[in-house]
Amino acid sequence: MKEDDHHFSNLSQMKFDLSEDQKILLKKIDGICKLLREEEERCYLKGSLNEKVIPFFNKIGMLGCPISKKYGGLGYDILSYLLTLERIGEEGSSMRTFFSCHTSIGQMILQNWGNDEQKNKFLPNTTNGIDIMGFALTEPNAGSDPSLIETTFEERGDQFILSGKKHWVGNGTFAKTITTYAKEKGSDKKISAFIIDLNSAAVKIKEIKNKIGLLTVKNAIIEFNNCKIPKENLLGLTGNGLSIAFSGLIDGRLSVAAGAIGVMKDCLSETIRYSKIRSQHGTVLAKKQLVQQHISKIIVALESTKWLVYKAATVRQQLQIYLETLKREDNEWVFKINRKNKKYSDLRNECDRLSAIAKYYATNASVDVANRSVQIFGSEGYKKTSRVARHFLDSRATTIYEGTNEVLELKIACEILGSDYRAY
Ligand SMILES: Cc1cc2nc3c(=O)[nH]c(=O)nc-3n(C[C@H](O)[C@H](O)[C@H](O)COP(=O)(O)OP(=O)(O)OC[C@H]3O[C@@H](n4cnc5c(N)ncnc54)[C@H](O)[C@@H]3O)c2cc1C
Repeated sequence: MKEDDHHFSNLSQMKFDLSEDQKILLKKIDGICKLLREEEERCYLKGSLNEKVIPFFNKIGMLGCPISKKYGGLGYDILSYLLTLERIGEEGSSMRTFFSCHTSIGQMILQNWGNDEQKNKFLPNTTNGIDIMGFALTEPNAGSDPSLIETTFEERGDQFILSGKKHWVGNGTFAKTITTYAKEKGSDKKISAFIIDLNSAAVKIKEIKNKIGLLTVKNAIIEFNNCKIPKENLLGLTGNGLSIAFSGLIDGRLSVAAGAIGVMKDCLSETIRYSKIRSQHGTVLAKKQLVQQHISKIIVALESTKWLVYKAATVRQQLQIYLETLKREDNEWVFKINRKNKKYSDLRNECDRLSAIAKYYATNASVDVANRSVQIFGSEGYKKTSRVARHFLDSRATTIYEGTNEVLELKIACEILGSDYRAY
């Protein structure tokens, strides 16, 4: 090996700058975020949905950032999409959560697992802002253990009949298309995934009230009562449901982790701004050693989180490229792919592992960062009118949803110890 080759091995070629295309995309996102900032604050203080988010982001095609151009999306890769969520996360986790539900655990599930007919039918209206998506897995008796779900389906003629109750469905109060997960009636195992058109299905939808944060995004309870679903709305094969949901959660976790970087960035800029103008005991706060300690911890958390998320995004992109290749080779790939395909299995396990680590670390870090930021602001940080207070309230949810951090912690250990040591 020549000396030069050694210097330019894969690892030493890490490039930390953005591509021109990414810069253009992020400039557009930045523009919309700035336009929405005041309205987002107004809505947060009233606890109401920010109705400008959809039309404003729609203007730049952001309702389908990583979705193929074939379905009206922008066709971006995973890392570029996550960089947009990082920027949106600066405006608050409410706004970012809207995208996580609509795109990461909404459209991306359909794009990866739907057949051509389903994608052509459902995706185009989700990328142009007409239909919004959501993901309904959790139930009152099945949270961190989704295998306990009690929603059932049974086949009757050319339909499936669904009965059961989902809760906490993000975007659920106004989404038109969701995926949901149900167990075959009489079986304790076979969980399947379904696409539900909430406009035509017999469902009861109720908003979840009294949340402590994430106030400009809405969550719903959705009840299926002998709800008739056309047979063609089955996603993947019967029995594939949990695998589909878990693949969606890889993208969901990455979206939460990317958003947490934005939260930390905003906390950093807010604490720097405030600590330089607020004086006590003869000098500005920025000159106090203990305040600097908070600030340095914020910076270290921010920098370390970035690389976990970017690395996970890069591996997730490799999985996406492999899935696209399989789909090109065989249109019916979804019915054949399974854990016996070693390359798929290895890539998916690695994505699962890295996204769990990134989400676990990023969300714990952002809760800590927001907490420190509130401390630096003192009483000013204890009002919802301060950005750091809103980050504090919103970040709290991120250690609970998309896999609680306890379960992720066990999952991370189990990946290394082996499945015999699974503790959850
Ligand atoms: C704001 C918000 C938005 C959400 N959005 C969605 C959505 O869009 N779609 C959706 O389907 N769901 C959504 N959820 C639901 C979310 O995914 C669940 O709340 C989460 O999976 C935890 O389930 P649970 O609340 O029932 O807690 P539980 O499962 O009851 O867990 C309670 C506590 O026990 C801990 N615990 C459980 N098992 C173990 C174990 N084996 N070892 C150690 N600790 C354990 C948990 O980590 C947690 O701390 C949302 C939740 C929130 C708060």
